[in-house]
Amino acid sequence: MGAGWIAFPFWCARISKPGKPSLLPAGTIEYISMAETIRDTVILGSGCAGLTAAIYAARANLKPLVLEGHEPGGQLSITTLVENFPGWPEGIQGPQLIENMKLQASRFGAEFQMGHLAAADLSKHPIALRVGAETIHTRTLIIASGASARWLGLPSEQALIGHGVSSCATCDGFFFSGKEIAVIGGGDSAMEEALFLTRFSTKVTLLHRRDQFRASKIMLERAMAHPQIVFRTNTVVKEVLGVEEKEVKGVRLCDTVTGEEEILPISGFFLGIGHEPNAKMFAGQIDLDEDGYIKTTDYVFTRVPGVFACGDVQDRRYRQAITAAGTGCMAALEVEKFLQEHGH
Ligand code: NAP
Repeated sequence: MGAGWIAFPFWCARISKPGKPSLLPAGTIEYISMAETIRDTVILGSGCAGLTAAIYAARANLKPLVLEGHEPGGQLSITTLVENFPGWPEGIQGPQLIENMKLQASRFGAEFQMGHLAAADLSKHPIALRVGAETIHTRTLIIASGASARWLGLPSEQALIGHGVSSCATCDGFFFSGKEIAVIGGGDSAMEEALFLTRFSTKVTLLHRRDQFRASKIMLERAMAHPQIVFRTNTVVKEVLGVEEKEVKGVRLCDTVTGEEEILPISGFFLGIGHEPNAKMFAGQIDLDEDGYIKTTDYVFTRVPGVFACGDVQDRRYRQAITAAGTGCMAALEVEKFLQEHGH
């Protein structure tokens, strides 16, 4: 085996001859030349942004490889009914929407591979991505790795995600019409969620672990002035109740000053404690802001030529499926342009 040859010792779909996907059985070792392995584009992430980029890149005949990480499908895959994505008058289940996009991208030749990006070297061209034991080389990279909602990490909370526990008021608020709910957090996200949820819920209890807030003055004042929002400060959540019943029945609260515990009966529990952009692995290679979001110019450009970012990993403001899809489209169009300009 000469230098520049790579082994694929596991199941993987790839192009063995241009345009002909082949599925290699487990244990098969196939050696292919480095020249063959240089991709036109790799898309990191299979949420709304990544899959839209995949549809566009595939239709441009770039045969994109989509790397699916530890949350395949992104945040939509843990949502229920999506009612604000244009084109679905009756709404569509989040996982179904993702599946549809994936099928659409596959139809035009996009390839998918499960794998965790262990390291990336953006300083060289082609860009080198280490995924497990494999190194993937690509002329361009679309980072669509999203942002993960921060969770409290309680086992009861995790067990009830999608059954009354949610990190997306815009997605799930409607299901709590006429019911009492709680939102946790003391920043703008929590205020925004609480205010939004008053459209549906009869009473929103805002729980915050301190008595000082990170939220901007205007958002805090708006939430405090709202007659349907009740504030409970110096309060932490010990447990979400309803695991047996498979629906949220309440939360067990603890007052951090007195240590007293109390049950708050609610039907919905919303997390508003922030998001973590999945961009840490690029620190030092592209610009990140103080919270770790990728800094882009002209929507999707990073400071590295040929590396574009789209969706929630670079959008802290809108964070909607449709806006993620929009920037995914832009990133793919820029990839196409970049490749053309560089003679590929
Ligand atoms: P954030 O400002 O970091 O606030 C997170 C809040 O969650 C904090 O109050 C924090 O408490 C609390 N928290 C974090 N981990 C917790 C835990 N394990 N248990 C209990 N509480 C926890 O995040 P954000 O509200 O998502 O805002 C992020 C950025 O986006 C901000 O710059 C914000 O202004 C911006 N944003 C703007 C808008 C808008 O303008 N419409 C809307 C949303 C977000 P502590 O305070 O005690 O740390």
